[in-house]
Amino acid sequence: MSSSNSFGTCAYCGKQIMWIRTKAGKNMPVNPQMINYRKPENGKKAKEKLVTPQGETIAVDRTDGMDAEGFGYISHFATCTKKRR
Ligand SMILES: [Zn+2]
Repeated sequence: MSSSNSFGTCAYCGKQIMWIRTKAGKNMPVNPQMINYRKPENGKKAKEKLVTPQGETIAVDRTDGMDAEGFGYISHFATCTKKRR
């Protein structure tokens, strides 16, 4: 598994972002903070959408780490303060 993620700056709000290359070959801006996640229990709906370092978008729940199954990143566009919705 190779990761060639690079850092940059959001053109809208000026915050640091990280580019992740998705499975579809697109570059997606995310917030550089790692978020620990676990998959929701059967039948439950995940609260969060994260992007894994491998560029996969997954629906999961945040956790504080003890029972984490992995980590991912939040799409910067979900939190960008300046981008128009
Ligand atoms: Zn931004």
